[in-house]
Amino acid sequence: MPDATIDKVLGSVPRQLFIGGTWRPAAGGRTLAVENPATGEVIAEVADGSADDARSALDAAVAAQPGWAATPPRDRGEILRRAYQLLTERTNDLALLMTLEMGKPVAESAAEITYAAEFFRWFAEEAVRIEGRFSVNPAGKGRLVVLRQPVGPCLLITPWNFPMAMGTRKIGPAVAAGCTMVLKPAQQTPLSSLALAELLTDAGLPPGVLNVVTTSNAGETTGPLLSDSRLRKLSFTGSTAVGQSLAAKAADQLLRISMELGGNAPFLVFGDADVDAAVSGAVIAKLRNGGEACTAANRFYVHNSVAAQFTEQLVARFADMPVGPGTDPATKIGPLIDGRQLQKVSELVEDALKKGARCLIGGAPSGGPGYFYPPTVLVDVAPDARLLREEIFGPVAPIVTFEDEEDAVAQANDTEFGLVSYLFTSSLERALRVSEALETGMVGLNQGLVSNPAAPFGGVKHSGYGREGGHEGINEYVEVKYLAVNL
Ligand code: NAP
Repeated sequence: MPDATIDKVLGSVPRQLFIGGTWRPAAGGRTLAVENPATGEVIAEVADGSADDARSALDAAVAAQPGWAATPPRDRGEILRRAYQLLTERTNDLALLMTLEMGKPVAESAAEITYAAEFFRWFAEEAVRIEGRFSVNPAGKGRLVVLRQPVGPCLLITPWNFPMAMGTRKIGPAVAAGCTMVLKPAQQTPLSSLALAELLTDAGLPPGVLNVVTTSNAGETTGPLLSDSRLRKLSFTGSTAVGQSLAAKAADQLLRISMELGGNAPFLVFGDADVDAAVSGAVIAKLRNGGEACTAANRFYVHNSVAAQFTEQLVARFADMPVGPGTDPATKIGPLIDGRQLQKVSELVEDALKKGARCLIGGAPSGGPGYFYPPTVLVDVAPDARLLREEIFGPVAPIVTFEDEEDAVAQANDTEFGLVSYLFTSSLERALRVSEALETGMVGLNQGLVSNPAAPFGGVKHSGYGREGGHEGINEYVEVKYLAVNL
């Protein structure tokens, strides 16, 4: 990738806070450094917002709320539709920007931009279908009218692993429903969100509807908003531990909450599965985003009768995934996000090896600069290995074999998480029986990818509550009001 192209893309992104439709420095002029995980080098300094800045952003969101709620749904939808078009037109530059701050290969960043844009297209269509209902009182006299109105100002907190899509998955329905927002992106990947704010302005989003506060101190900056009675909703995507503490804080104001939290997805391959298809599904479910996805397959349960064939093919496919900087077109696996994540993945693999696992490929960091870890397959993994219990968030596939279905389902459900499971079988009966028994909000049936803007994404148990996308996605941003009509 020519340096001039990189400089041009980095140079075009705003670096300041976006509040009330204007770009401004953080109070005191503080900045935070953004690092390229492929090199460890600082690529930008952006405003490092404080609690005062966050309060100013909420002031702007509160001031814009009545006018925005009164804006015709068609107009709100048209803004989203234009934003969809602009995201699509700007895919190349935005994909490169994402790769520079997050690490994934440019082709994967481009795929994320497409996915992110589809939330805008979907919610452009949903904006005009926020329907209520009218019915006759069962007692005969009087009528029941049910309205769905915007919740009001929202705080949106997003993670670094999908810097654009996690934003549009919240902003899309909020805009469609008529809510105003304060967005707090992850400190590792603020540039994509700043570029998105600029793009939405170009698409016609009025001042104050979306405000963006970047910060190196998430807790202190956003904490006061959670106890501000003008805030009406928190939508959070991130780790379960942070989600739990934010849900507890949000309880004071009884905020509406959506929580998209961590996962520990089981991937089940039954003896009657199409093994080729299961391997292809496993490569996507494990290696998409370098394994840094809440939906990443974390544990593979494979029937004894097909285990050898599945494992051999998976190792061959993993061997064909070059590791390197995301800006190199040959790269299939970019760096992990930072040194902490590299350390965590390394520790989880070492723990499994100490407890008796055998490594068939990969198994140690690739070396720097940058935070690279190669695709790894482990077999004979002990039941008490930490990586069967904890979210790996890296390109490591532990394989466990099983003999009977009931045992496989019990092992799959033996986790506090419940985001997604994957299941490969050619039996329709088994497919439905196992899908119903799995304790997750989503099931990938004979496919390794479930994310789809037209479908309700979300988890159960410690993976959170609420749904993003689909017809259900808008429900997170509307309140139901019932009018008792006396005729
Ligand atoms: P994280 O550490 O929980 O951070 C997520 C966001 O929360 C970041 O913006 C972070 O800001 C902010 N944050 C951290 N502490 C906070 C606090 N005390 N108050 C307010 N905000 C706070 O998670 P992550 O490591 O970025 O993301 C990975 C996790 O997200 C994984 O567990 C993954 O499974 C989950 N995830 C879930 C979904 C889903 O849809 N279920 C999707 C993607 C990712 P800073 O960046 O400043 O720390």
